Parts: sequence; C-alpha cells; structure tokens
Amino acid sequence: MGLKFFNTLTRAVEEFVPLDPAGKRAGMYCCGPTVYDFAHVGNWRTFLFGDLVRRYLEFKGYAVNHVMNVTDIDDKIIKRVSEMNSSLAEVTGKFEKAFLDDLKSLNCRVPHGMPHATEHIPEIVALIEKLMAQGLAYRTPDGSVYFSIEKYRGQGRQYGQLVKLNFEEMRAGERVRHDEYAKEAIADFALWKARVPEDGAVFWPSPWGDGRPGWHIECSAMSMKLLGPSFDLHLGGEDLMFPHHEDEIAQSEGAGLQPNHQRFVKYWLHGAHLLVEGKKMSKSLGNFFTLRDLLAKGFTGREIRYALLQAHYRETFNFTLDGLASARAALMRLDECLAKLRELAGDVKAGDHAPVLGQFSALLDEDLNIAGAWGVIFEWVRDTNRRLAENSLDAAAAASALATWEKLDSVLGVGALAEVEVPPELNALLEARQAARKAKDFKRADAIRDELKAKGWVIEDTPKGPRLKRAA
Ligand code: AMP
Ligand code: ZN
Repeated sequence: MGLKFFNTLTRAVEEFVPLDPAGKRAGMYCCGPTVYDFAHVGNWRTFLFGDLVRRYLEFKGYAVNHVMNVTDIDDKIIKRVSEMNSSLAEVTGKFEKAFLDDLKSLNCRVPHGMPHATEHIPEIVALIEKLMAQGLAYRTPDGSVYFSIEKYRGQGRQYGQLVKLNFEEMRAGERVRHDEYAKEAIADFALWKARVPEDGAVFWPSPWGDGRPGWHIECSAMSMKLLGPSFDLHLGGEDLMFPHHEDEIAQSEGAGLQPNHQRFVKYWLHGAHLLVEGKKMSKSLGNFFTLRDLLAKGFTGREIRYALLQAHYRETFNFTLDGLASARAALMRLDECLAKLRELAGDVKAGDHAPVLGQFSALLDEDLNIAGAWGVIFEWVRDTNRRLAENSLDAAAAASALATWEKLDSVLGVGALAEVEVPPELNALLEARQAARKAKDFKRADAIRDELKAKGWVIEDTPKGPRLKRAA
C-alpha cells in the first residue's frame, strides 16, 4: 500500500508519488528556526513532525534530501540585536548553537543541508532580479523592492492557493513592510527592505541600494538552490501557510524557473499548533517552555520526543507536565520489555520481523497515523510481556522481536535504554556533589543528592566513579 499525505495545496489526502521518475529520491524542505531566541516546545513539535516525515520516508526506502534553513536575518532578529546591544553574528550564533544542541537532545536526524540566509544574499538578489524581469517586482523611492500581487494575478496566476483570500478589500499597490501580517491585510510584500537607521550595521549592497532581504524570499531562494526549482515536500507549522508559504509560491513560480509549468512544490504539509496546559503558550501565563526548561526539570530528550510524537500532526496537541510523566512511565514499560527480550535472545540471530511492523507501516501510510501506530506498539508490548511471563517465547522469537523494535525505532527515534542521555546540567550537579564530598561539606552533598532525586535521578557507584541513573 502506498504512502499518503494530506496536501494543503489540494486540501485532499493524496498518494505520495515523488517527482523523481525512478521513484527513489525525495526532496524535502522544512522551514527552520529563526535564531533570535531558544526554540520552544511548540517549535519542537513542528521540527519533530519534520523529523518523523523524513524518517518515515527513509523507512519506506526513499533517499531523502532534507533541507532546513536557518533564518539568520529578519525583523525579529534585528529587534533582538538592538535589544541585546549585540551584533548579528553573536545573537544568531548563540541561538543556532542552542538549536543544534536541542536537535541532538531530541535525537532528530540532522538535515542534509542547513543553508543560512546571510550566506545566500547573491542568490536572493538574483531571484529578485528575475522577478523584476518578469514585471512582478518594483522598486519604491526609498530603495525597497516589493512583489506586485496585482501583476501576478494579471498574469493569470493565483494568489491564495493555500488559504482563501478576499481581494475585495485589497487596494492595488498597498504595501506591507513587515514579514508577518494577517490574511485580512493582503498587500504587496517586501522582497528587499531598504536600509533604515534601526537596522544598525545589518545591511548588504544590492542593485537597489543598501538593505536586507525579506523573510519570504530567503526560503524561495535557498530551497530552489538546494533542491531545484521543483521539489516534493515543503513543511512547516500551520501559521506559516499565510503569508510565508503563500508568498514563497508566488515568488518561486512567478520567477518562472520550473520546467513545463511544474509546481514549485508538489506536497505542502502543515503541522497544527501545540497548546500548553490547554492554553496558548505565553511567557506571562508561565506556561512557556523551552527544551532546556524541561531538561532542567529532569525530563530527558527521549521522554519529550515521545510526548511530542503522541498526537497526529494535524491535530492540536495539548502538552502537559502530567503528559511528560506518562511518557516516562510508558517508556519504562517499553524498556523493561526490551531488557527481558535481550536477556532471552542472547546471541541468537533474528528471523523474520514480527507482524506488528506491517501494522505499524499500514497506519503510518495513512497520512502518518502515529497515534494508531503507538496503539499497535503497546498492544504488542503487552502481548510480548504476557508471552514472556508464561515462558512461551524462545530465544529466536525474542531476537526477532528485538530486530522488529529496531526497525520501528528507526522511525520513532525514542532509542533504547542504553542511549538515555544525562542532561549536561545534571552531570554538572553530580560533579558539584563530588566536589562537596571532597571538601567534606556533606550537608551540601546530601542536598544535591536530594535535588537529583527530586528530578528523577539516582547516583550509582561504578568502577569508573559515580554516574547518574534514572530512578526506577
Ligand atoms: P519560528 O522560529 O518562529 O520561525 O518557528 C519555527 C517553526 O515552529 C515554524 O514552523 C512555526 O510554524 C512553528 N511553531 C511556532 N509556534 C508553534 C506552536 N505553538 N506549536 C507548533 N509549532 C509552532
Ligand atoms: Zn520558510
């Protein structure tokens, strides 16, 4: 059975047929982080959705080329640079490093390409020049360049493919300089923003004068450079449908680079947002979590990954700390079962995969029905535990079950127990405890031990010295 995705472009569930005539390669672009702050758990839901799509395509045998851009120049970053009284490179460097650390903590496969906007200014300028040549872009007296929606529509093209738009209200030639705007405020959007005093030292020369690119053109230029003018999949959170992705289509197809009127992107996939404790995340509500906030509470990347991969990507997901505690319990059940299977299997070679693999794949084929897939996995764990308890599994069956789990986990990425990582700040606490003991400050050493315990970790003495282990 073939893999199907819900395509926002056609608003239908469609079979995935890659552009590659051999049906082997798949090009996939995920809008990446804007590196002006730490990514929050909502952002991570969307990035994990991208990781799931990539891993599942690889499971199906596709050679995936996964590109995720790093937005290292946009309105929000400029604001942050001036707030922090810092430089562009310092701000973006700091938060990009944090992003890559988090990607690793969550066991995401690293994208094959991670292009930076600031390293693609010539490509961006060239694309704007193409739009100028097509009569779709115009320079304003201040030295900015805008995309003309009226001209684009005048060429028989459709603006408003991913979302429905009302053009009654739109006044021709009205412009919006900000990258983010509402559907009700459709207007010509900025491709190149002329330098203003607030930009400080952030500007590049261009044929239209000093300035910087708009956010939307960055993604058009970098995706087409790395994946070609037509590629298979483009992903992002639902808030990116408009204006970001709509504008990407207009720019990329308006430049007329696709052969034989092919589309810029064949399948557009959008992930729904995440709520925290039933509410939209906000700093003032105290429900705003970055990944490191959760790691500092003692949860592991693996538990957070598991929790964020529970719900179908098109459903709003309510993230709660109780949900994370349930994730820990579920993973422990899985780990216990795998440990018993390992003990029983010994060195015996695995035979065929267990039938759960086929059920799992049939469910994910249906627009990534991950909730259903977890259902069959835990059914299988229950059944395996029962058979282990009644001694009706032999070593070969145990080895097959383990090999099956490896295949399942190539998609899920929640890993085996041995791979559980200790958050760096907890290792630092362990070191502080050792230092306190050495200094005979046992009160402090005990206080640290209690703190670690409260976070779900115990200290285990090994020949190589003490190490942290999850509390049972
Ligand atoms: P940004 O760094 O703001 O450009 O966002 C990175 C990604 O996170 C984009 O794909 C957004 O659509 C997505 N995103 C932002 N907020 C949420 C949220 N609350 N839940 C899920 N995804 C989100
Ligand atoms: Zn983008």
